[in-house]
Parts: sequence; C-alpha cells; structure tokens
Amino acid sequence: MSKTAESVWNNCLAFIEDNITSQAYKTWFEPINAVKLTDTALSIQVPSKFFYEWLEEHYVKILKVALTKELGPTAKLVYIIRMENTYGNKQPFTEKIPSANRSNLQSQEVDVPLKNKSPELKNPFVIPGIRNVKIESQLNPNYNFDSFLEGESNRLARSAGLAVANKPGGTSFNPLLVFGGVGLGKTHLAHAIGVDIKDKYPEKTVLYISAEKFTQQYIESVKKNNRNDFIHFYQIIDVLIVDDIQLLSGKAGTQDVFFHIFNHLHQNGKQVILTSDKAPVDMIDIEQRLLSRFKWGLSAELNHPDYDTRVAIIKNKLYRDGVEMPEDIVEFLANNIKTNIRELEGAIISLIAHSSFNKREITIDLARRIVDNYVKHTKREVSIDYIQKVVSDYFQMDVNTLQSKTRKRHIVQARQLAMFFAKKFTKASLASIGSQIGQRDHATVLHACKTVDNLSTTDKQFRKYVDDLTKKLTL
Ligand code: ADP
Ligand code: MG
Repeated sequence: MSKTAESVWNNCLAFIEDNITSQAYKTWFEPINAVKLTDTALSIQVPSKFFYEWLEEHYVKILKVALTKELGPTAKLVYIIRMENTYGNKQPFTEKIPSANRSNLQSQEVDVPLKNKSPELKNPFVIPGIRNVKIESQLNPNYNFDSFLEGESNRLARSAGLAVANKPGGTSFNPLLVFGGVGLGKTHLAHAIGVDIKDKYPEKTVLYISAEKFTQQYIESVKKNNRNDFIHFYQIIDVLIVDDIQLLSGKAGTQDVFFHIFNHLHQNGKQVILTSDKAPVDMIDIEQRLLSRFKWGLSAELNHPDYDTRVAIIKNKLYRDGVEMPEDIVEFLANNIKTNIRELEGAIISLIAHSSFNKREITIDLARRIVDNYVKHTKREVSIDYIQKVVSDYFQMDVNTLQSKTRKRHIVQARQLAMFFAKKFTKASLASIGSQIGQRDHATVLHACKTVDNLSTTDKQFRKYVDDLTKKLTL
C-alpha cells in the first residue's frame, strides 16, 4: 500500500503521543495537519511561526525519530506556516522565511501563506473626536517580562505572551487566555504583555481592565443610557486585556456586551488577552458562544512553581529590594510556601519588616514563626502534592507509579482516590487536578470522582480506603 501524507503523519502521531504528555500532545500536535508527501519529504501545516519555533526547539528530536521510522534515513520535514483569520477570509499571500537550520532534521525554505492584512475597517459609530482621546493604558510598569521569572510552571504562558507582544493580533493566539490558581502570576503576566506592546508599538491603544471594573462601567452606562458609547469606546482599542473574566459568570448583560466587543476586535485583527482562575471547560454560568470564543486562540495555564522557580523568585525579590538573606532561610521559605507566589512575597516582606523594626537578625526561627502566621489559613488546605504523597504511601507505591499510565487495577484505584480527594479537599479545578495527577484531562478526573463515589457505597474494602485516607488527610 502506498504511503500518503496523512498515513505517514498518523503513524508519527501515534508514536509521539506515546512519548510525551497528553497536555503537550494536545497543545502542539493536534493542531497540525499533514498536507503533502513528496518522496521522503513530509509537509506539515502549523498554525503560526511561534508554533513552528516551539516545535523546532522542543520536539525536533522526537519528530526526527518518528519520521525516520516512517520514511527512512533521508526523511525531511517541511513546515508550512499558516496564520488564518478565524473569521475565514483566507486570502493568503506568500512570503519566504529563511530556513531554520538549527536542527539536523532539514527544515526547508517554505511558502508561508500569511494572514491577509485587511484594511482598517471604519467604525461608522465612532464618536467624532474620540480617536484623539488618549486612552490611559492602566498598566503597571513594574509588572513586566523582566520581573516575571521563567520556570517550568509558566513557560508556555510566558512564551505565548511574548509571541503576542511581538505581534499583537498577528498570531493565532487570539484571544490568549491565561488561567491558573490564585497568586500564580496571571495579573502580572497580563500587564507584562501590555507593557511590552506599549514599548514596541507606542502608537497602539492598549487597555488593561479587570472584569469587575468592566462590569461596573457597563452597569453605569446602562443607568446613564449610554451603552453605545461604552461599546464604541472598547471597539477602538487595539489590545484589550481583561483580567479575571471568570467574574463575568452569571452576568448575562455584561457577557452580551463583551461578546459584541470581542467579535468586533477579533474581526479587525485586534488582540484580546484574558485571564481567568479556571480553564474554559470549568467556567460556570458563562454563555456557550462566549466560551467557544475563549477557546479560539490559546489557553495557557500557570501552574504551581517548582522549587527552583520559587527560589529564583525569592532571590529576585530580595535583590530588587536590596536585601540579603541567608541561603538556608531562602530554602526554608521555598520549601514551606509552595502554592501561591503572592504569599511567598508576603512572607518575605513580613520577614524583612520584622527584622528591621525589631533590629533582629533574620533567623530560621523568625522565619518559621512568620511562615506559621502567614500561611496558617492555607495550612489546613491540603495540597494536591500532599494528597498524592499520602495516597501513594498508603498503598505502598511511589508517586510516579501513582501517576503512571498503567491500567493495573490497584494503581488506577489509587490514582482515582487521589483525584477524588483533590476535588474534595482543594479548590483546584478538574482540569488542574488532572494536569497535576499524571497529566490527565478534566473528564478523567470527573470519572474518577464518580467511580470513587460508587465504589465506596458498594464495596466495603474500598469504603475502608476512603475512610482511612480521609483520616490521614484531615489529621
Ligand atoms: P494572580 O493574578 O494569578 O492571582 P498575580 O499576578 O497578582 O497573581 O501575582 C502575585 C504576585 O506574585 C505578584 O506580586 C507577582 O509579581 C508575583 N509573581 C507571580 N509570578 C511571578 C513570576 N513568574 N516571577 C516573579 N514574580 C511573580
Ligand atoms: Mg490577578
């Protein structure tokens, strides 16, 4: 049987899927289309230049292995970069980009159909003169990319943010939705993108607004009978950043007006950046048509920072404040405050304040007391890491086994219990629980919770697991 681009690519995908996390697979491989096979050269279409760069940087090895398996040692990969306007006016024009030879998998010079730059649409409703009104961006210059340290937990979101800042409205990350738990840097990153755009494109109108303030303004405008002015004001913005859009939940009027503003901006190639404390799948009381638009671009999660990133953030903060702190205290803080960067910063500030007001040296003892005070309220909330540890210990396996892909029954059960307790004892979303417990999706977590519920009513032994573990976790 002769090979087609599609059959070759499907085989590559099957191999790749087995070898990387499902999150990475979904993000970076599902959006790719195989378009052409000539001899041993496979052409694949990727959504953007950034996408292509990311693949080259992170996945070129596995791509090479997969493709060589399929097409032999002379295999070549050709990227075709497509940036399409989601509205479907696909009139590509062609541009050459220089071949990237960073990899030994030869990337060739490719024809790049780029988005057609449509002429500025005139808004017939623009209030005369409003274009001359200077709109204050409401950006905090301290929240910039330099002060936003990179780590495993934020790499995707940060890189996507940078890509958007380089070409607002010109990447497929539109909207860019940054989501993640409290204090993990959503607001900081959203500002950083805006600040960077202002820097690179001073003529662009950038506006940062919290969803809460947006809602208040909207309600005001309805009261004052100038809803249209409100809409027009937002429609002339080039880069709109709306923070905490989960706050629109249940607010039908505001959602409706935001829907129209969003469509107008998106249609005109303007950039929209959103943040939320939940993934789109976990948002409640947000209209479907709005949710589906949130998913048009890229949703990038901010996860809990790992130990090294926590240390780097602490050191950076100390450096900026011109304060020195012994290494063991930095480590102590990084070890004890794990799930919220704002709290980490708060503890550093209290520690510095205590030591300078009371003219005392910063000691481990002082640090311990402050951390105890500082994270008291969160201390009782168990972390997902802790739950996984307790469950693994209970079943005498290690956490890696619990997270592994195996279908062995006792391991699956342990994993399902960990998911169940994560849902029960933390505020994390289903998606976030899934990503922290072996890179599963929200549906898997939901299924786990139901299975545990069922089994604990029908199976005595299982009931005992649940009771034992509940005791251990709430002790
Ligand atoms: P969120 O909006 O997700 O609740 P914020 O953006 O307000 O979180 O971040 C909380 C604090 O943590 C801020 O002071 C921010 O500067 C800091 N912070 C978050 N992420 C980082 C990072 N990657 N590097 C440095 N500081 C960070
Ligand atoms: Mg915030």
